[in-house]
Amino acid sequence: MATREIQISSAERAKQAFPKLNAAHMERLESRGRLRQLQTGEVLWEAGAESVPFVVVKSGELEITLNMATQETIIARYGPGQFTGEINLLVRRRALARVRATQPGEVIEVDHEMLLTLIQTDAELSEILMRAFIVRRVELIAQGAGDVVLVGSTHSSDTLRLKEFLTRNGNPYAYIDLDRDADVQDFLDRFQIGVDDIPVVICRDEAVLKNPTNQEVADCLGFNAGIDRQHIRDLVIVGAGPAGLAAAVYGASEGLDVLVLETNSPGGQAGASSRIENYLGFPTGISGQELAGRAYTQAEKFGAQVMIAIGAKRLLCNRKPFMIEIDDGKTVPARAVIIASGARYRKLDVQNIAQYEGTGVYYGATAMESQLCRGEDVIIVGGGNSAGQAAVFLAQTARRVYVLVRSEALSETMSRYLIRRIEESPTIELQTRSEIAGVEGSNHLERVQVRDLRTGTTTVLPGRHVFVMTGAIPATAWLDECLALDEKGFIKTGPDLTSDELANWPLARPPHLLETNQPGVFAVGDVRSGNIKRVASAVGEGSIAVSFVHRVLHE
Ligand SMILES: Cc1cc2nc3c(=O)[nH]c(=O)nc-3n(C[C@H](O)[C@H](O)[C@H](O)COP(=O)(O)OP(=O)(O)OC[C@H]3O[C@@H](n4cnc5c(N)ncnc54)[C@H](O)[C@@H]3O)c2cc1C
Repeated sequence: MATREIQISSAERAKQAFPKLNAAHMERLESRGRLRQLQTGEVLWEAGAESVPFVVVKSGELEITLNMATQETIIARYGPGQFTGEINLLVRRRALARVRATQPGEVIEVDHEMLLTLIQTDAELSEILMRAFIVRRVELIAQGAGDVVLVGSTHSSDTLRLKEFLTRNGNPYAYIDLDRDADVQDFLDRFQIGVDDIPVVICRDEAVLKNPTNQEVADCLGFNAGIDRQHIRDLVIVGAGPAGLAAAVYGASEGLDVLVLETNSPGGQAGASSRIENYLGFPTGISGQELAGRAYTQAEKFGAQVMIAIGAKRLLCNRKPFMIEIDDGKTVPARAVIIASGARYRKLDVQNIAQYEGTGVYYGATAMESQLCRGEDVIIVGGGNSAGQAAVFLAQTARRVYVLVRSEALSETMSRYLIRRIEESPTIELQTRSEIAGVEGSNHLERVQVRDLRTGTTTVLPGRHVFVMTGAIPATAWLDECLALDEKGFIKTGPDLTSDELANWPLARPPHLLETNQPGVFAVGDVRSGNIKRVASAVGEGSIAVSFVHRVLHE
């Protein structure tokens, strides 16, 4: 098998990725671990091994290699003071790489539980290790050096789904594009893959998954291996968007036994945002993916466990502990539950529109978006109050605002005061019985085709900004009438609950803020009735709910 060696992109990166621990660090680690003697050629573990320890070299050398389809790739060589591991070690996933001694030597082995304790209690070591683990993962992703090969096509939506799933879970992978790679036939023959089986995921150079579901990929990569589904958790959180991850970080860091269930990948809607510019502490903005990745690592660092691609299917709320049925058919018990399942913005059924999300297609009209379209034409789709508010607001800065509605008039769906303002504004043009038929552009949206539903004719507007204000659908269908919902299906909490909704409330105290009409079940973030659709408010609510969970657990 051919061998190649990965080069880290810069000297500074290499220093962060492969730091050397000093004598004091080594002493602290030795007191928490055990010594092991190694012979030349001894393999500590193979790629795909479960429950591997954290290993620090005292003497000798370790070589770290990955098998990437047809090539053995040396990722690193560690000498005295250097250590193994990257994010997978922390989140208890299978090892990505093989570790082998190239010389006789001695290492310190620290098991996973002890490593977590060390990270939580030794701030200095925690910083060095966390930085190295994250930078190593970033380098692996940048170099496509992982234990997964994805064979797909740019024209296949399942390829996009799997790319998104792997990327949003921070799992490095190599991608082979069938439409471009001439040598790909050899590769396919090797695994007996027909064109109809595309996309294919080759998992750890062993399993060949033909157009797998996200859950099948998660299982193959061991994302959820080692997570106990049976013992009663202090807190189960449903949804790993900003609200759920914040609750996990605060809950786990305050000593609660926390399990998070996530249907898809950590990050939620925020994970889909190309740049969040209004989140406190990030003056130059941060991509939703990066924010989510950091929050996920932070939650795991404090000991929260996150089940990926396994969502909640039903909440059995009339019993204690609560039981939550999950996608793999099992149930998980919980003393308290935080629902952070968010909402999904209604999207337009228009080809290619998703590729302009954040680059011309928006789902909210804040001051930030209004700056982006200052002096330009904007198109707002929707006839509800959110569309009306957006039109009035954007008309202050935009050159022209087109409001497209399918109906004959706004009167059925929008408040009278907004309709009057739209009618009085010289900048706003209402186009009834019309809809978007197509979008075009290169890196940014450039033109929008608008269809007149009366005549069927299509005109092109030079719109670089489309605001889709057609409402959000809360992820509450799975709740099965367990909790009080508002007329749009969002979960009602605290002071919003009416006396009728609290008719069966069993306690002398009223519901806490963010508590539903079931004591011990909370709702936070976009899924909550009356929420503000912001990352910061979701994070705030997730952290506040945890303080009430403590009180409920002591009741
Ligand atoms: C394109 C876009 C750009 C945005 N930009 C910004 C911005 O710049 N600034 C800003 O402040 N806000 C922005 N927002 C809004 C912000 O992302 C949301 O307000 C925020 O993500 C809400 O967080 P949440 O955790 O409540 O819900 P979500 O982010 O919706 O997360 C909910 C999670 O729950 C999971 N889930 C759903 N059902 C289940 C189930 N049954 N079991 C398990 N898991 C489940 C989902 O898969 C999802 O991961 C943007 C939103 C979008 C769509």
